[in-house]
Amino acid sequence: MKVGFIGTGTMGQPMLANLVKKGFEVLAFDVVPATLATATRLGAARAGSAGEAAANCDLVVTMLPSSANVEAVYLSSGGIAQSAARGRLCVDMSTIDPGTSQRVAAQLKERGLRFLDAPVSGGVGGAAAGTLAIMVGGDPGDLEEARPALAAMGANIIHVGGIGAGEVAKLCNNLISGSALIAVAEAFRIGEAFGVDPQILTNVIAKSSGATWVMEHMHPVPGIVDGAASSRQYAPGFMTDLMAKDLGLAVGAAREKRVPVVVAPAAQQLYRMASSHGLGREDFSSVYKFLKPSSDDAPV
Ligand code: NAD
Repeated sequence: MKVGFIGTGTMGQPMLANLVKKGFEVLAFDVVPATLATATRLGAARAGSAGEAAANCDLVVTMLPSSANVEAVYLSSGGIAQSAARGRLCVDMSTIDPGTSQRVAAQLKERGLRFLDAPVSGGVGGAAAGTLAIMVGGDPGDLEEARPALAAMGANIIHVGGIGAGEVAKLCNNLISGSALIAVAEAFRIGEAFGVDPQILTNVIAKSSGATWVMEHMHPVPGIVDGAASSRQYAPGFMTDLMAKDLGLAVGAAREKRVPVVVAPAAQQLYRMASSHGLGREDFSSVYKFLKPSSDDAPV
């Protein structure tokens, strides 16, 4: 099976590398030539545009930063909607607004094309290991058609519901992980300020009610968890700007359904502030650096 893979960035590269390893032919496109060159070193063939990749494959996969990018790649002139053969299945694995997934799917349907939203969790590590969690919205029959390719990239493939439901599950998950990371960073800043050893504090919390996956795997304090971004100068991982975007999607979804939310908007603003202080392209756990205590003589 030939997969047209559009968006060969941080996540797209290891994902397409796993497709190649599992015997899929991959025709890749990205707007950044250096990124596309890496994809070809990983075994993909190079397409000259998203439309060209979509026109010459059996399955389209997109892995793009934002809703606007997805809309452009699918719906702009010469994009996937105009180029893919009728009946073709398109799988968008980006984290975007569920409403955009539904809009894109509706426009593709008018052209006889099918669409699944299939965002992922598990980060670059999960993408490299082929163990991503993949949450899927759309027709169950379409999921079965995409399943062999998805299984090359992920270990847990969960059908959530209709189109957009995969994105809803993803933004709910990131609302929790993004907010929890800030709680962990705040707790460790307080602990340190009182002279508590962060390793001992970690040992305590790991056995207590505050234990959380983000502390276990993405600990914001350097030197506690070997594989964590904090232990390699906060190289992403998952960029602060992407977490701010995902929390924005969660806040937008809450507003649309009139659900009161307090923690998510506060967390989003903190990531935005961290970004405006130069941490946008570092891992989101770098928000810990932003939460430094003020000087001793500052009024309390
Ligand atoms: P990235 O910015 O590293 O990669 C995205 C790629 O898309 C880039 O190479 C960019 O050049 C390309 N692109 C943008 N517009 C394009 C266009 N019009 N045509 C072709 N290519 C285009 O981002 P990433 O970290 O790979 O994340 C991709 C998506 O996956 C995001 O929605 C993100 O929220 C989500 N995600 C990321 C992680 C992670 O750990 N990085 C984890 C889970 C989900």
